[in-house]
Amino acid sequence: MKGTLYIVATPIGNLEDITLRALRILKEVDLIAAEDTRQTLKLLNHYEISKPLISYHRHNEEVKSDILIEKLNKGENIALVSDAGTPGICDPGEEIIKKSIKEEIPVIPIPGACAMINALIGSGLDTKEFEFMGFLPLNKKTRKEKLLEIKNSNKTIIIYEAPHKMKNTLEDLNEILENRKIVLARELTKIHEEFIRKDLKELIEEIDNIKGEMILIIEGRTKLEKEENSLNKMSLEEHYKYYENLGLDKKEIIKKIAKDRNVSKNEIYMKFTK
Ligand code: SAM
Repeated sequence: MKGTLYIVATPIGNLEDITLRALRILKEVDLIAAEDTRQTLKLLNHYEISKPLISYHRHNEEVKSDILIEKLNKGENIALVSDAGTPGICDPGEEIIKKSIKEEIPVIPIPGACAMINALIGSGLDTKEFEFMGFLPLNKKTRKEKLLEIKNSNKTIIIYEAPHKMKNTLEDLNEILENRKIVLARELTKIHEEFIRKDLKELIEEIDNIKGEMILIIEGRTKLEKEENSLNKMSLEEHYKYYENLGLDKKEIIKKIAKDRNVSKNEIYMKFTK
């Protein structure tokens, strides 16, 4: 019989944030695959759990997942944990989960802490519809596209960001957003947990003094913005200019306009090449 892969969520700061079920699974499995074995050892020691550990991180995901699949196929039960929170959410996990499903190995997620969910529910922004964007890309072009997506989204957006890159991200957001509510959630579940609700300009001024792990939650496009800035209300030339001002090239602009107006790229292309 095949073993089971358990995807176990662990705390994002406060060690009490682990479920009874997660602790039982960690005690019962044959092996724990951990993003950083030293980090996981601290958690296991705290709960007096002694288990063999194997490292499973971004740089060895491909190779290690094959080794783990072999063990699972032989009947071993394995728990996958990351350094903090839910594995697979901006953390390693996807590779082994996909391979396990392919091999018909049972995959059981064990729920628990996930920083983006905590940030969202504490933000006070709309939770009915939201989009998690993870970390914004560093590549200039894809970053610009993501920023445009944020600008045009009606949903609440959640972004993870490393503290030393936060200022740059806030500045990029400030260039494209007008009057949006924004919440910076920091040090969730820890002593200095805080939800900072300020406008972007104020946040930029203060960010050098704000420390710790952080998440940004951004309000979706407001009603007013929707009415005033509706791209489809612009003439085709204004619509083109709008994207041109954002630095997009002709091919990208045509693709975007076609998507916004729900028409074929060819139709837009013809209009600009006559
Ligand atoms: N797998 C994790 C989860 O379930 O949320 C996320 C891991 S990701 C590599 C790390 C990012 O999550 C950080 O850069 C930060 O944006 C966010 N994060 C994690 N823990 C946090 C905390 N306690 N407070 C605020 N943000 C946190």
